[in-house]
Amino acid sequence: MSSNPVAETVASLMPRARTELAELVAFKSVADFDQFPRSESEGAARWVADALRAEGFEDVALLDTPDGTQSVYGYLPGPEGARTVLLYAHYDVQPPLDESGWTTPPFELTERDGRWYGRGAADCKGGVIMHLLALRALKANGGVPVHVKVIAEGSEEQGTGGLERYAEQHPELLTADTIVIGDAGNYRVGLPTVTTSLRGMTLVRVRVDTLEGNLHSGQFGGAAPDALSALIRVLDSLRGEDGSTTVDGLTPASGWDGLQYDEEQFRQDAKVLDGVELIGSGTIADRIWARPAVTVLGIDCPPVVGATPSVQASARALVSLRVPPGVDSVEATKLLQAHLEAHTPWGARVSTEQTGQGQAFSADTTSPAYAAMAEAMAVAYPGQEMQYAGQGGSIPLCSTLAGLYPEAEILLIGLSEPEAQIHAVNESVSPQELERLSVTEALFLRNYAAG
Ligand SMILES: [Zn+2]
Repeated sequence: MSSNPVAETVASLMPRARTELAELVAFKSVADFDQFPRSESEGAARWVADALRAEGFEDVALLDTPDGTQSVYGYLPGPEGARTVLLYAHYDVQPPLDESGWTTPPFELTERDGRWYGRGAADCKGGVIMHLLALRALKANGGVPVHVKVIAEGSEEQGTGGLERYAEQHPELLTADTIVIGDAGNYRVGLPTVTTSLRGMTLVRVRVDTLEGNLHSGQFGGAAPDALSALIRVLDSLRGEDGSTTVDGLTPASGWDGLQYDEEQFRQDAKVLDGVELIGSGTIADRIWARPAVTVLGIDCPPVVGATPSVQASARALVSLRVPPGVDSVEATKLLQAHLEAHTPWGARVSTEQTGQGQAFSADTTSPAYAAMAEAMAVAYPGQEMQYAGQGGSIPLCSTLAGLYPEAEILLIGLSEPEAQIHAVNESVSPQELERLSVTEALFLRNYAAG
């Protein structure tokens, strides 16, 4: 890689990148303004805007999104007739959680054992720096060969959907031929990975009623229909003997044919207790990336402490269903509701209500942008080939953009490999990954322009 001029430029820019990342990490930009001053987020937004202006971006603006936060936008014109690439990152971060659990202060970027520690270092302030490094490397080596739009979101971690709704209201703003979401991560350090699939999600509330009021379990128990038992039976009907998700009419999609997730590794990552089996069937990747998965998120019933000897008259639960690509989440929601209603025993009254819904995402990996990315990763990670991974969770913006711009190609890369411990205490970024991924992004933009 050392013989590559783009890589040499990025290497020479790393000390500056560290200084800049330290400045950005110092803002406590948690978009929960009851807990963290709004001025911290505003400071981070201004920092990003100033950085874009310094790189020659036009139309740089702090966009007021409907959830009361700000996204930073900028446009860097390229050569006439060139394609347009949108680069995404977010400057807001998760709260630091237990500050005493941090070895060094969360908002002071600190080097330790070859990694840089600090809240947001990987997720996703490092992503902001990655985009800047890639563009600077191209400018130093012949110029940026595409039109570039940058959007840095201010409330990704809150899930309040500000940028999604803003984009829907201003559909022309983020139009692009290709979108690079810099908020994912390699499967592990040194293994270049694109995330090609995200599961969607649906949330359904179910309520079961059997009696006009609670009854004494001594006097009535045994014959009185117990709503909590009815609910437990309904919820249990969502799983097969091995724990697989079984929703009537919802057929598991085909398996996962990209990168495989080693079972032992999964047990470690998930911190499964000794002797406890995993649930479901198929490979781990099948189960967490390519198949539906139901989880009961909560049950309303009397807590153990203070419980009285009563037969319950009603009970509720919140059920989530993760939906793989290929399954429409609107359809899946209907199937889940129908299943819950059909499996309620004893003629108990049942009602269901959808409380949330998001579509799955699946990239077209045969597209020119994927070819350009594979070529870039092979250079930035000598001896390695680009890997395809899935993600069990969702990035709602991704589905929004895929819906708004069905022609655009979407690539997910980033600094959130497992060692980064994003969202946990002691989050860190690998400076080598920052360097290699910045080179990757620069070469990708160049390959894509030429392709
Ligand atoms: Zn993130």
